Amino acid sequence: MTIQFQPSSLEASPALVLNADFRPLSYFPLSLWSWQDAVKAVFLERVNIVSEYEREINSPSFSMRLPSVVSLKEYIKPADTPAFTRFNVFLRDGFACQYCGSPEDLTFDHLIPRSKGGLTTWENVITACSPCNLRKSDKLAEDIGMLPRHRPFAPTVFHLQKMGRRFPPNHLHESWLDYLYWDAELEA
Ligand SMILES: [Zn+2]
Repeated sequence: MTIQFQPSSLEASPALVLNADFRPLSYFPLSLWSWQDAVKAVFLERVNIVSEYEREINSPSFSMRLPSVVSLKEYIKPADTPAFTRFNVFLRDGFACQYCGSPEDLTFDHLIPRSKGGLTTWENVITACSPCNLRKSDKLAEDIGMLPRHRPFAPTVFHLQKMGRRFPPNHLHESWLDYLYWDAELEA
């Protein structure tokens, strides 16, 4: 089957992907599929179309409006514990240096330095900007009065989802808003 885009619709039209309970599969990064993947999933009957774009795709035998929101037919159980990744450490810490609060030039610091036996774990790794990281070097945080704002901890999936809602992407299609609850909106 050959699907052709109308010339005016060549830009990307991603679909927001919801779990079967109509919550986004993930907030950060926001669960989005390319229009190609979304259309494929519709044909494979893996998803329901919840909302559509104005844009259509056409082939000789059919035409359809591109889905802007789809929901999975089968519920995917979220992982119980988030993976220990650089990204998730940043997300847990709100993308801010835990010493000075700077959002820039972020890297990682071992609260108890590796040279002193500190482990690379949720409980010992925190987000730090490069200047703070340099300043602290391989000393113990408490020895030089550099105390992190939060004691590092292993977050739950729920916690990371909550943090992720604070960082909406730049582009949000209006049909997505009913399914997204950004903190920014709640405060308005
Ligand atoms: Zn800093």
